[in-house]
Amino acid sequence: MTGLRNWAGNLDLGAPYLARPESVDKLRRIVAESTRVRVLGARHSFSGLLPTSGRLVSLDRLPPSVEIDAGSQTATVSAGMRYTDVAAALQRAGYALANLASLSDITVAGACATGTHGSGDTQQGLAAAVAGMQLIGPEGDFVEQSSEVDQDTFAGGVVALGALGVVSRLTLRIEPAYEVAQSVRIRVPLDEVQAADGLAAVFGAAYSVSLFTTWADEAVVWLKQRVDRPGPGLRLGVPADRPTSPVPGADPSPCTDQSGVPGPWNERLPHVRAGTTGGVGGELQSEYFVPRAAAPAAFAALRELCPLLAPVLQVGEVRTVRGDGLWLSPAFEQDSVTFHFTWTKDIGRLPPVLDAVERALAPLGARPHWAKLTAMDGPRLRAGYRRASDFRELVSKRDPEGKFSSPLVDEVLSDEPS
Ligand SMILES: Cc1cc2nc3c(=O)[nH]c(=O)nc-3n(C[C@H](O)[C@H](O)[C@H](O)COP(=O)(O)OP(=O)(O)OC[C@H]3O[C@@H](n4cnc5c(N)ncnc54)[C@H](O)[C@@H]3O)c2cc1C
Repeated sequence: MTGLRNWAGNLDLGAPYLARPESVDKLRRIVAESTRVRVLGARHSFSGLLPTSGRLVSLDRLPPSVEIDAGSQTATVSAGMRYTDVAAALQRAGYALANLASLSDITVAGACATGTHGSGDTQQGLAAAVAGMQLIGPEGDFVEQSSEVDQDTFAGGVVALGALGVVSRLTLRIEPAYEVAQSVRIRVPLDEVQAADGLAAVFGAAYSVSLFTTWADEAVVWLKQRVDRPGPGLRLGVPADRPTSPVPGADPSPCTDQSGVPGPWNERLPHVRAGTTGGVGGELQSEYFVPRAAAPAAFAALRELCPLLAPVLQVGEVRTVRGDGLWLSPAFEQDSVTFHFTWTKDIGRLPPVLDAVERALAPLGARPHWAKLTAMDGPRLRAGYRRASDFRELVSKRDPEGKFSSPLVDEVLSDEPS
């Protein structure tokens, strides 16, 4: 069947059209009446999360809402809203989120369902900000979840790949608004990053740090300094004398301000400005979360793979993520260093490259990003997660008929032995 496609265009999502209900009641009816249903966020995932043999639903016409509770320092938001709009509303009211991903034109529900993250030694993934959720279950019923009421099951339901139902509302922890100044250092020698204490120096230099490299000899480091909590900064390399793009030689105009001038958190934490990634992507992506202690070995292994990576790699990005307690979070119970790859849109050439990357990183305990391309099968994907069988139980209890399944969810839940 020829259906709608994801942002990168590498996946046929199955259904030729999209239901776009204008009310939550209509959404509940669609869910109740469908045999299979899959919700789309901004369709920025690359893996088999979105395709379905049933109906595709978007929440983009549901009324947007951001309700701030100053007492509990939380904001309850419509799940289909994009971070761009949620962040702008919070900033206007004098509030902030602790972190954002490299772009904010993704939905809150889609990002939290997949363990999406930004960077920062002290910063957890975006889903760790979730304090409560309202879901629509298979019968169109409401399921309320709160970290206060059932902490354990709640931890299983936040990064849930869309397998537990349609998230209609999320309550996020917020804090007072803050400013961030972004600057960039170029010609950072990878030898020095790999040297003893090099990683700590780079990633401890600022509130949020991203290191871009093609794994040859040098890196470019983007430093996002929180004005009220400045880090020590970085001495490696030299300051960039003009704006840069993460992809070497690409147009930097969609990127956020790198001049070192402080600005609102939501205009500095993402790498690209709101509304600049367009409707169709010219790239594919993979990413692996590696336990922090194994990061130097991962660095060394990827540098050795540089000649193999070069023909298909636009750029690599290394970030840090603090561990959390969410069962399916790729940072579950471990502080992690993430190794991201922006590939050329040449899917036919990727299999041997992914195979080599995964042979190098899997023995180090790497967990693939749920939303990005991996060659790992279900048993290998599950192996990294101590609570994977608890998650399987939770899904079979909440969605016994598999109404919310998708190819990747089936793979993760399958009974096939390792
Ligand atoms: C240019 C680009 C930059 C990126 N940068 C980053 C980054 O910095 N960090 C990072 O970690 N990732 C990054 N990603 C990956 C991206 O964050 C994830 O793919 C994320 O899931 C995208 O959110 P979305 O709204 O597009 O979700 P979609 O891709 O539309 O959906 C993802 C999953 O969430 C489910 N879902 C969506 N809405 C709901 C709902 N209401 N209820 C239940 N389930 C739902 C879907 O069914 C699906 O399983 C990037 C991707 C691109 C294309």
